[in-house]
Amino acid sequence: LASRDFHPENTVIDIKGVQIGGEELVIMGGPCAVESPKQIDEIAALVKAAGGQVLRGGAFKPRTGPYSFQGVGVEGLIMMAEAGQKHGLLTITEVMTPEYVDICAEYADILQVGTRNMQNFDLLRKLGTCGKPVLLKRGFSATYDELLNAAEYILAGGNPNVMLCERGIRTFESYTRNTLDLSAIPVLQQLSHLPVISDPSHGTGRRELVEPMSKASVAAGANGLIIEMHTDPDNSMTGDGVQSLFPDQFAALLKDLEKLAPLV
Ligand code: PEP
Ligand code: MN
Repeated sequence: LASRDFHPENTVIDIKGVQIGGEELVIMGGPCAVESPKQIDEIAALVKAAGGQVLRGGAFKPRTGPYSFQGVGVEGLIMMAEAGQKHGLLTITEVMTPEYVDICAEYADILQVGTRNMQNFDLLRKLGTCGKPVLLKRGFSATYDELLNAAEYILAGGNPNVMLCERGIRTFESYTRNTLDLSAIPVLQQLSHLPVISDPSHGTGRRELVEPMSKASVAAGANGLIIEMHTDPDNSMTGDGVQSLFPDQFAALLKDLEKLAPLV
């Protein structure tokens, strides 16, 4: 079902009038984690003012160590839904387990599967019937074929609204956190009709690389970008402050991107 042989036309996902996979570029911006009502409200206002369409933020965080901040949980879903509604933004949040799919689907417009869960097949099956679009991140060691097979689980369950996300892979290079695989963008679009979103934040792990890799992703044909932005990155509650843009950088980037591709 994910294959372009089966479905030659691009899939365009329409969420409350925002079209993902069409001519326009979709920008998802926001913090790594939802921290407080004030934090997410301020960031939502900045995402909207800059021209973004979707507010990102994790309420449930997949942390490498068990003692790190794990996210604020269901309360974060509520905080983000309120901020999205107030500022006229769609929302996207990560769901980590099948048990939480229904509640995440109740509060968010798009459900995100993280890189560590790309082959959590029970989760993928559950997302097949959740009724909401899914952004499926590529596992950091997954091949294109494995990513497309993971998408197939969701599609086969009856959910046609899947976006593929390149978020960087593990290579021998240690200067960057991950290596953003730009080739994934055109290859996935050749093999599949599903929209392809690029994540230059996790794809590099370094703030100063987010701008050039965003532009490179758009030049390579990405249908959208998911970018971390924080009002106080140095004091953010996850380690991802180092890759989060400051609000003025985020706004300047969107202005530049508008010259490359129209924003919705
Ligand atoms: C995130 O989007 O904050 C995240 C944890 O992403 P990934 O699953 O790509 O690491
Ligand atoms: Mn993050």
